[in-house]
Amino acid sequence: MGWVGPGLVDGAVTGKVFASPSASQARSVAKAADHGGGIILAFLNYAGDVLHFGMAAELLKADGYEVRSAVVTDDVASASKEEVKKRRGIAGGLAVLKVAAAAAEAGLGLDEVFRVLNKTNDRTRTFGVAFSGCTLPGSQKPLFEVPAGKIAVGLGVHGEPGIFETDLGTADDVAKLLVDKLLDEVPAGAGKKVIALLNGLGSAKYEELYVTYESVATRLLAAGIEIVDSEVGEFMTSLDMGGLSLTLVWVDEEIENYWLTPCDSPAFRRAKLMDPPLDPSVVFNTEPEPFKVNKKGSELSQKAAGQIAAGLTQVRDILAKNESMLGDLDAVAGDGDHGAGMTRGSNAAAEIAHELVKDGAGAQTTLVGAGARWAEQAGGASGALWGAALTAAGNALGDENEVDLKAQVKAVDAFVNSIMVLGGATVGDKTMIDAQVPFAKEFERCVSEGHSAADSWKLAAGVSVNAANATTKLVAKMGRARVLGDKSLGSADPGAISFSLIVSAIGNML
Ligand code: ADP
Ligand code: MG
Repeated sequence: MGWVGPGLVDGAVTGKVFASPSASQARSVAKAADHGGGIILAFLNYAGDVLHFGMAAELLKADGYEVRSAVVTDDVASASKEEVKKRRGIAGGLAVLKVAAAAAEAGLGLDEVFRVLNKTNDRTRTFGVAFSGCTLPGSQKPLFEVPAGKIAVGLGVHGEPGIFETDLGTADDVAKLLVDKLLDEVPAGAGKKVIALLNGLGSAKYEELYVTYESVATRLLAAGIEIVDSEVGEFMTSLDMGGLSLTLVWVDEEIENYWLTPCDSPAFRRAKLMDPPLDPSVVFNTEPEPFKVNKKGSELSQKAAGQIAAGLTQVRDILAKNESMLGDLDAVAGDGDHGAGMTRGSNAAAEIAHELVKDGAGAQTTLVGAGARWAEQAGGASGALWGAALTAAGNALGDENEVDLKAQVKAVDAFVNSIMVLGGATVGDKTMIDAQVPFAKEFERCVSEGHSAADSWKLAAGVSVNAANATTKLVAKMGRARVLGDKSLGSADPGAISFSLIVSAIGNML
């Protein structure tokens, strides 16, 4: 398990995969690890281990050692409450051994350490679920399979399948299953304080474990339980098994103190707590900064802001419709998130724009707010660029002036320029710039020739559609797609396509 080291155990006897080590191996490790104060052989309660370690204890006694044998029996699924002694040991073994090892390190004698170990075991309960079985090295198929849409409940850590199957639910459902079962198993004399260990069995991802843990913690707190410490990670895996288990240790002061002392082993470390500890009242604000209208826009600018908000609604709708197409385009040489990012960004931008307009914002305040929200929510290169560009366009318009066609030309220029300045791309690099620069040029031409706003937007949008499609022939020289530049040949740049869709939608609205 990787639990040998200062503050943890002195030796580990390793058998073959999923098989008990032999008595003679246990004996030789025990001798090598001996410090002279007696030996505790602790093992999980599997038949092979019980036999081999039992024999090893006899051999060591014959060699003249003081020996105690202890079993870990935390797995509530493996036998009923009436037959606790028959239960298997699983991930709760970490807690049992860590606490006992700390007691030994604190200088307690053999029988005292043995008492602490058994007490901790009596107060430790684990329950687990599997989403998929594990495969022995060299084997062609998994030891067991969990049918699609099901979870196996009460697995062992040596490839033993679950005791029964139930429907696969959300992380919340899994957390409920685990917590409810364990709260039905509260050991005699236990208080309200626990250590919680959420253990991944091999191929559960840390993201999944943490998402589940949040729900576990919420449920425990709601049940009036105080979590004195928690660990989320992989402590006892079963090769590549998909699944997780929850261990609760109902602590008393002694167990809590020994659990919290520092230890250092390859697989589990606990540092000395910082002094002074981190201030838990300091939390990150995960809510976006609120936007307020500090100064109302002029009447004309408010009117323009209303149109901008309506335009952003159109933008949001066209992006939502094309989300998967844009994602597929981005997946050719990028990471496939362009559709999702643009959808998130435009959604947030449209929402804040309408709020600001309601409060009397002018064009600048509306666009600056929309840009900030877009960048915040979209993420990615395009999110940063769109955020900056909307902000620049807003700053070009101000909150006072009428947004006539001349002002629109200025705003479009500011939009495109800010992207070139921030992103450093030029025409031909296969980015959104390739659709934007021709758009800006055509828009300016149309306005100077006296076309209406609607015509100017429509004509310029048409040019940007052609320009975006023409990026098919280019090799990406900027952005994420640059790395796989040649791969991008033959498909259009997602950022250029999304831009042409957006300006087309605005053109159609006018
Ligand atoms: P990410 O590349 O971070 O995953 P997106 O997938 O949302 O972000 O956006 C990719 C698009 O961003 C590209 O198709 C390209 O149009 C645009 N882009 C990337 N880098 C730049 C840049 N430096 N200048 C202009 N546009 C860029
Ligand atoms: Mg991307």
